[in-house]
Parts: sequence; C-alpha cells; structure tokens
Amino acid sequence: MKTTYESHAPSTGNKPMRLPVSEFFGELTLTLSQIRNRLASEEFLDLQKCLDHKKKVQPKTADAIAQIIKEWAISKGSTHFCHWFQPMNGMTAEKHDAFIAMQSTSIHVGTVIERFSGTQLVQGEPDASSLPSGGMRSTFEARGYTAWDHTSSLFIVENGGTRTLCIPSVFVGFHGQALDNKTPLLRSVEALNDEACEFLKLVGDVDVKEVYPTLGVEQEYFLLESELVRQRPDLLLAKRTLIGAVSSRGQKLADHYFGSIPERVLAFMDEMETTLYRLGIPVKTRHNEVAPSQYEMAPIFEHVILAADHNSIAMEVMKRVANRHGLACLFYEKPFAGVNGSGKHCNWSLANDKGENLLDPGRTPHQNLRFLAIVSVILKALSEHHEVISASMMSRGNELRLGFNEAPPQIFSVYLGQELEQVFESLTLLDKPSSQTKRDINLGITQITSLTRDYADGNRTSPCAFTGNKFEFRSVGAAATVAFPMSIVNAAVAHALKEAKDRLKSYMKETSNRDEAVIRLIHELYQENKSILHSGNSYSSAWEEEAKRRGLVESKTTYEGLSVLLDARETNFLAQTKVLSSEEVLARYRVRMEQYQKRLEIENATLSEMIVEYVIPAVEHQLQLSSAVLEKALTSSLKKDLSKRIEDIEEVYSGLLKGIRDLKNFNENPISSESYELHAVSNYHAETKAISDVLRSHADQAERIVSGDFWKLPRYRELLFSHRLR
Ligand code: ADP
Ligand code: MG
Repeated sequence: MKTTYESHAPSTGNKPMRLPVSEFFGELTLTLSQIRNRLASEEFLDLQKCLDHKKKVQPKTADAIAQIIKEWAISKGSTHFCHWFQPMNGMTAEKHDAFIAMQSTSIHVGTVIERFSGTQLVQGEPDASSLPSGGMRSTFEARGYTAWDHTSSLFIVENGGTRTLCIPSVFVGFHGQALDNKTPLLRSVEALNDEACEFLKLVGDVDVKEVYPTLGVEQEYFLLESELVRQRPDLLLAKRTLIGAVSSRGQKLADHYFGSIPERVLAFMDEMETTLYRLGIPVKTRHNEVAPSQYEMAPIFEHVILAADHNSIAMEVMKRVANRHGLACLFYEKPFAGVNGSGKHCNWSLANDKGENLLDPGRTPHQNLRFLAIVSVILKALSEHHEVISASMMSRGNELRLGFNEAPPQIFSVYLGQELEQVFESLTLLDKPSSQTKRDINLGITQITSLTRDYADGNRTSPCAFTGNKFEFRSVGAAATVAFPMSIVNAAVAHALKEAKDRLKSYMKETSNRDEAVIRLIHELYQENKSILHSGNSYSSAWEEEAKRRGLVESKTTYEGLSVLLDARETNFLAQTKVLSSEEVLARYRVRMEQYQKRLEIENATLSEMIVEYVIPAVEHQLQLSSAVLEKALTSSLKKDLSKRIEDIEEVYSGLLKGIRDLKNFNENPISSESYELHAVSNYHAETKAISDVLRSHADQAERIVSGDFWKLPRYRELLFSHRLR
C-alpha cells in the first residue's frame, strides 16, 4: 500500500497532476450522517429517536453502528482504534486497542477475529489516573471514562505506516465531572443555543431553530531545523530559549512577513495540507509571519466543536509532518526573546440554522436590529466576564508573549470600529421626544445596511476586535487548546443572553412596539458596557491608567490572572449556564497552577544545567585563552585592552557562578505538590525570576564575548535564519 502522502503527492516531472482536493477531502473521516445512511431502518429510527431526545441508543443499535464503523475503518487499513480525548493538561490523549478478539481461549482453536462492539464504541475506560483531575478524583475512584462524542467525525490517523481509528470522546469522572476540555465546550454550545433561540424569538426571529458558534482559528508557528533544536536543551525541555543573545538582524527588516515562502517550507505546507484535507480539515491560508522562521495557517471556519477538534488534530499533524521534513514545528508562545511570539487568533461568530451569520450586518432593517441586539449582548458578556475570559487564555508561554511585539496586552478591551460605535452612539437619540426619535432611530438602523466591513482594523494589538462579521480573540496562545477559552466565551454570551432576554421581556410589557423595546435594550446595554471599548494604542501608559480607572484588570502573570477563578461572584455564570460546576472550576484552577509551577521549575533546572554544561566551560576556556595572550602581549596599550577584556570576562564568570549558587536552593527544593497556593507560586516566581533574569543577561553577554570555537549551543542567528537556506 502506498503511504498516505504518496498517493496524492504533487506532480514532478512527467508524473500526472494530482487529484483536485474535492476528490479526496475527508476520505479518512466518517460522519454520523454517513453512518446513519448505512443503518437498517429499525436501528436508524432508534438512533434518530435517541438524538432527538438526547438518550442512549439500544445496545443492538450501538452494535450495528460499531459494525459499520469497523468495516469502514478496516477497509481503510486500520488495525487499531482509540478513544481520542482532550484531558485538562491541554494536550490530546489516546490509548490504542487492536480490533482483535480471540474466538476461543482453547489451546486448540485459538483463532483471532476482528471485533469491535457497540460497548467498545460508546464507552472506554482508560486507566488514565495519571492525567490531571485537579483533585476531583480520589484514589478509590481514580478511573476516568471516555464516551463517544458523535457531534464530531470519526477519523483515521496515519503515523509511521500505521492507521488508527480515532473516536472523538469526552473524558469524565465517575460522577460525570468534566475531566477534559471537550465536555465544557459541548455544554456551552447547548447553553448558548437554548438562550440564543429564546432571545432571538423575542427579537422577532420566531422560527429560529438553532444557533451555534462558528470558529476559524489562525494558527501561528515556528519552523526550525530539527538538528539545531536537538542541540538546545532549553527548546527540548522548556519549549523556549532560556538564554540566547538576540541576533543582530532580529526582525528589523520585517522582510519575512508575507514574503515568498521558502521551497522547503512550502514542501512541508503542501504535505501538511494534503494530510489535513484527507482528514476533512479545510485549510485555506498559508503565509510567512512577522518573526523570522514564523508562519501561519488558517482553515475555513466551522462549527465551534469541529473547529476545536480540527485545530488539535492539525497541531499533531503539523508536528509529525515537520519531523519528516527535518523540521521542528514549535507552537510555544514565546520561543525567542526580542521577536514576535505565536498566537492563535480565534475568529468567533454565531450562525443560525438557516446558515446566516448573526454578526453580519444584514440587508433589511430587521436583520440590522438583530445584529445590533446580538452585538450589544456580546459586549455585555465581554465586559462582565472579561476577567474569567482572560484567565482562560493564560499560561506560562502566553504570559511571556502578551504585551510585547505586536501581541495584545494583558488588559482586556474590545475594538468595535468607529463606524459601528457611531451607530450605537446614535441610538442615544432615544432620549429625545418621540416623534423625532422614531425617524432618527430608523435612520440609524437602516444606515448600517451600508456598514463597510472593517477587515484591516488599524489596531493590531487589540485583544478582541470586531472584524466586520466576527469577533477575533487574539490573546489565545498558539499552544493552547481552543476548546477551553471558547467554552468560557460561549458561557459568558449565554449568560448575558439570558439576562438580556429577561430585561427585554419586561420592556415589552411597557410598549406594544417590539422594535422600540429592542432598541431600548440595545441602547442600554451599549451604554452600560461601553467602558470595555478601546480603539487607541493598547500599549500606552495613558491607556494603562485609563483602564485602571474603568476597572479593567491587568494581570501580568498567569497566577494573578487565574486567581479570579477562586472568586465565586466572578465564576457564578459558569455554574448558572451549567458549563462548569464550582468544583470543576476549582479543578481547572488547580491544574493550571500546577502546570504553571512545574513549567517554572523545569525552566530553572534546565537553565542551571545549560549554564553549568555549556556557558561556564566556554567562559573558562576564553579566560585561559585571553590570559595566555596577555602574557605574550608586548605593547602596553595592548596589555591594557586585554586586561580590560579579561576583567569583563571575569565579571561575567563570577555573575554566572553566583547565579547558579542562588538558583541551586530552588532547584533542590521544589514546591511540594500540595501547595500550589497563590502566595507560594507567586513568591517562587518573583524570587527565581530575579535570579534567572540576571543569569540570562550574563549568559547572553558570555555568548557575545567568547570564541565561536567554545560556544557549542546553536545561536539565535542559526536557529532563526538557517532553515531558509537549505
Ligand atoms: P481577516 O482576518 O483578514 O478578515 P478572514 O475573513 O479570511 O480574514 O478570516 C480569518 C479567519 O476568520 C479564517 O479562519 C476565517 O475562516 C475566519 N472566519 C471568517 N468568517 C467567520 C465566521 N463567520 N465565523 C468564524 N470565523 C470566521
Ligand atoms: Mg485575521
């Protein structure tokens, strides 16, 4: 059998052109509707009934479905299946089982057959007790359960010549607690759908049946020469460079951005895209990003559940394909000091069952009214819950990225665009006498039919920008799973919709004109929440002051940001929308704090190792060499210069020795696993940061003053610029 890629490989020389994408798109996926169409009528009806009433299917139906899936997967060459899920550590997890069963255990007739039952499909019990639970599982019930999530397609992963059927699943504890990022996402979609439909019915969309979030993820990443990455302990263990003098070129010329894509990278992208198409992932855009060796890919937007799964799958595929090309694909948010980091812009919108984008200003006054109503509710959601939304995006890597080099700042604000702000502001005319009001309001509403889409918003550093027909959340880190922050955004909007609906109901009692009540709601929501809006320079100190005055919180560190999860008043909306119980919120806080602290500890231990193994010996060699030259120096001016140079080296040398001594205590006594308390983590961070910052500056100075012969670590120069040459 040909390998995946070969069968669709780009043509070279006389080989025929490859197939158009539409001919193989999604060939490694199986959707529920494809399964349904192959079921016998009895099982088909049972499945339909269960989907309508959100119930479990009969064992007989489950077995029939499993049979269809097994046949499909085996016909595609799969030997194994796994429940594929997204635990709270932010990664994806899989435990493979072969499709085989013994027909009999007798020593005479031990025949193997291919088997896959309904029970195996619907539920798995990976003994996943080492995956984080944030304290929700005590040892006696440490098991987690995986259950098939049929909203997402089944897919086959090809790796190292093997093929494995992946069953997208949720991962829950014994009492149904969410141990993963997928469960809250599914719950949030349901909550949002319920609230949005009720709200829209009141606004006048009486026949609305479904509302769901859409998501398009712009994924940034670095591609580096894997041979060089292997020589950097920091990139291997901490995913970022802990030392490294900034190269003299840096991204000064910005000549990489949107430039022609190097041939080797294009070959990687091409194979990556072909693989993703076969998995039903509609990759659309590829280009160079601002930092040297930085790139971006973006698929066409999809239902948020699919888009979230697809992003996780895509990241795995990208790492694997890069490897085959001798490249390392890095998603860490800030791998290099001094150049841009990587984000994952989440373009989020709402669609209804007719396929209309509810954030698209429409063609009729009613569509415009609906548009303004939804936007004003979203503003309320973002303004009231921005702290929890920000917390959901915090991580060690993102804390290093945010606030610099074109990344959004840590203060959350929203950019609406001047034109749209004016439309909202014009609704204040409502206060004027009613005869005039009516005309002016109508004018305001019809005016926005001509709203031009503000795609290229001038403010690249806004954490959340309305870009014409969607909100773009730009703070999400490149390595993060989108499922979690998007669950929080969905929950916030669902909660705001509920409150807005209650308010609208009471306004409607006061007037017989529905539009008037809706306009009153829009006007009030906008006026109450417009303090979240900001269109100026988000980096300026004036904005920092102004934001403080408006009560917008700035969290410079992950732990400061996460601490809001301990405040029940702030997180209540998650319980109210049934997206996360208070126990589940606390678990997430714990898991994130633990991950953060462990990352700090890995960074500090790795930094020490590198200083001892590489930097100090290099400095010692240089000292010896320079001292030997000094002994031979003849002129006094040369002696003077050399002595000065040796003094500089000695200063760096003693700085390095001191730093290592200072860090030793922290490395030998990490924080105990019970106490990832806020103050313990914050003390650890503050104290070790002070030491490691100084250590880094000495190491970077050392890199500049020692001979290339003594410097064994690949430098920024090589890491960031060399893969373009081959
Ligand atoms: P730009 O950001 O330059 O406006 P696009 O409009 O192409 O570029 O969008 C960038 C990303 O936003 C793409 O991934 C795209 O699929 C996604 N996107 C576009 N429309 C929507 C929508 N209605 N909902 C969610 N994502 C969307
Ligand atoms: Mg964009």
